[in-house]
Amino acid sequence: MSNKQKKKDLLTRREARSKTKAQISLQQGLQDGSVVRSNPEKISSRSVLPSVPEFYFDHEFACRNCGVVEVWTAKRQKQYYEEQQGEIEGRPIRCNTCRKIERERRDEVRRLQIEGMQKKAKKLR
Ligand SMILES: [Zn+2]
Repeated sequence: MSNKQKKKDLLTRREARSKTKAQISLQQGLQDGSVVRSNPEKISSRSVLPSVPEFYFDHEFACRNCGVVEVWTAKRQKQYYEEQQGEIEGRPIRCNTCRKIERERRDEVRRLQIEGMQKKAKKLR
């Protein structure tokens, strides 16, 4: 066997092996819930040619506010993209804690705005 042929054989075998590994980890993921199959029909997007995933994978991200690393689970992604109609381009930015704080801050701003408008309306009367 020529060296070239040997090399080719090795690469083919290596490729086959990594493919099997990927398939095994996909199977395992589907079983333990870290991988969830998507339903492309339920996915919405703002893009003309969206890249729709076949699977969702547990995904780690760092919170923009506090830097905490949180896992956005495959299950949660499916729920967000398919049930809550979040766009497929959407990604989490903040951890749960910071998201809650942010929501409360926004609610407070809204409350103050409404209060301000009511005060103004009273003055005009
Ligand atoms: Zn955070």
